[in-house]
Parts: sequence; structure tokens; C-alpha cells
Amino acid sequence: MVIGILGAGQLARMLALAGKPLGLKFIFLDPTPASCAADLGKHLIGDYTDKALLTQLAEESDIITYEFENVPVEIIDFLNANTPVYPPAKALFIGQDRITEKTFLQDLGIATASFSAVSSLEELQQAMPDIGYPAILKTRRLGYDGKGQVVLSSDQDLAEAWQAVKSAPCVVEGFVPFDREISIIASRSVSGEIVYYPLSENEHHKGILRLAKNTQNDPLQAQAENYINTILTALDYVGTIALELFAVDNNIIANEFAPRVHNSGHWTIEGSETSQFENHLRAIMDMPLGSTHSLGYAAMQNFIGNVPASNQLLSLSQVHLHLYDKAARKGRKLAHATIRTDTLKNFTDLIDSLTELAKQSDDS
Ligand code: AMP
Repeated sequence: MVIGILGAGQLARMLALAGKPLGLKFIFLDPTPASCAADLGKHLIGDYTDKALLTQLAEESDIITYEFENVPVEIIDFLNANTPVYPPAKALFIGQDRITEKTFLQDLGIATASFSAVSSLEELQQAMPDIGYPAILKTRRLGYDGKGQVVLSSDQDLAEAWQAVKSAPCVVEGFVPFDREISIIASRSVSGEIVYYPLSENEHHKGILRLAKNTQNDPLQAQAENYINTILTALDYVGTIALELFAVDNNIIANEFAPRVHNSGHWTIEGSETSQFENHLRAIMDMPLGSTHSLGYAAMQNFIGNVPASNQLLSLSQVHLHLYDKAARKGRKLAHATIRTDTLKNFTDLIDSLTELAKQSDDS
């Protein structure tokens, strides 16, 4: 079977690495000639809107998926006319606009931060008495890893913040005083089978995920599963999905969902019976989903801008290194390492070592 993927970055690379043992072949469409998944399959080099390449992708693939959420929905509709594309376009459409997304979540009874749509400085000023300070101004579309976001502390910040987002349509939302940032990852197959991973506990710095750890019997697991189950059903979703959440006083508030495999689930590669990548592929092929059972304490550390020497990382014997084969560039995710171990003490020590190494090499 041939799986087509829009995008040939590290997520596509990890999908292909998970699919090879299942006998799958891959074809990628990505405009960058030196894409890091390219040597794991056939690479169509060109724009995502190139109709001839999209037609070729559809003809040569049995099923198509994507690794990023900014794919124009028209492209999914175009491909879907001949070849099934998962996750469904509805998930992309809703997730691409923060207002549509938050409204969708609230309509399903899922708590979000208070928010308001603003499209001018005047509207921002009018919204603030209701939202209150501190708050965050985010562009409605195309924001990721904290890009297109400004924290607002007082009325004095508004004019400068509005300039910083270049007058783009925005959402302004109340700052959630969270105790922890967590995410839940789940997979749903074409037949409707659903599996949930244990919650991941995530640490961000400057809006970028740095460290993700699995949790054991987290008190918020059931509530998070309930939320994501509601979303999966409402979207008639197929594939792996991630829902990013804030934990506040034993309640959860949803931030956003990503209709794809997610950085906070990379620890599942060595840390789970079945990784999020393998379950995504099984889900879109309508195969039985694999156990999401954790094989111990598991974590993932991202390396951004630079990667510590492989020898240094691999001298930690329960650490696994995943290099993405990408050219180093400031602020770019280049690799991650995962940890899996049986004892909490060992886990904490390994996280400390990895975090220290990551800090030394991080240039963001
Ligand atoms: P996002 O692009 O929405 O995923 O935001 C990136 C990061 O900014 C999050 O992971 C949080 O660390 C922080 N953040 C975003 N929105 C809020 C909020 N309403 N309250 C507190 N922190 C936030």
C-alpha cells in the first residue's frame, strides 16, 4: 500500500519510519528539495497548489494524509475526489481559525479561555474590559510555536501589540493561570475504534515545546478523554489527533487541537506499546489500533537550533536519539531525544541531564 503525505518534514519522516515495518511505501509532496523525509520514499517537489503534482499524488497513493494543519481545505477536497484523505477536511477547516476552533469547542461544552474576535485596534480596546489583564493577542490564522502572539499587561500595551500582529484579524484571550500544560493524544480508525494515550505533561519556553513527559494515572485523564472523544465524534475524525490543554485547580481548559501527529507525543515512539505514528497509519488504513500502554516512565526533549554531540547524548544509556536530517538554523527543531526507564529516580536524573544538554545547545 502507498501512503501519500502532504509535507515531507520531520512528522512525515517519523510516519514513514513507523510505516516501513508494516510494508508501506510513501510518496511526499513538498516544495523543499532537501526535505527530511525525502529519502524514505518518492518526493514530488513543488507547490501544494500545483494541480498536476496533486493529481500525480492522488493517482500514486492509496490513501493520503498530511503533516501540517495549514493545508488549504480546497486541496483536500481536490485530492479527496479520487483518493481518500484523512484526517477529514472539516478538522482542518475548524482548526485553521482560532475563533472557529474555540467556538466549536465551546459549542461542544468544552471549556476554553474567555475570548473575543478583534479586527481593529478599536475592537481590541473595546474587548479588554471583558477579557481583563493579563491577556494574549493571537493572530486567528497561521500562528504556531508562539509566533503571531503578544502578551498584554495593560491598556498601554494595546497599540504596540496591534502593530506587532500587523493588523491581522486576531483573537484576544484571557491568560489562563495554569498549574500545568498537558495534552491528550488519541487515534480513531475509519471504523470508529478509538485509543487514548496517557496525558502528556508539557513544558514550553518562548511558546515552543521543550519537554514532554508521560503521566501515570493522572487525575485529569478521564476528563481529557471525555473532551477528545467528543471532538473525535463531532468531526467523524480518522487518524491521530492532539488536544492541548491547561490544567487549573484540577480542571482542564482547552487551548487548541492539532489534526495530526504531535510533538508532545514523540515519547510514544519508545515509550508506548504502539507509537502515535503507527496508530495514525493503522487508523487511516482501518486496521486494528495498537495498545497505547506506556512501557515505563517516558519523556521527550526537543533540540532547537543546535543538537548536542550524538556521543554525549548516547552515553546516557536509556536515551534514544532522533535526528531529523535538517540543516541547522536558529530556532529550528532539529532533533529530539526520548527517555524510557523503569524507575522514577532514574527518570528524573535523565531528564535533568537532557535538559541541561538541550539548554547548552539551544539558540532560540
Ligand atoms: P498556542 O500557539 O496557542 O499553542 O500557544 C503557545 C503557548 O503559549 C502555550 O503552550 C502556552 O504556554 C502559552 N499560552 C497560549 N495561550 C495561553 C493562554 N490563554 N493563557 C496562558 N498561556 C497561554
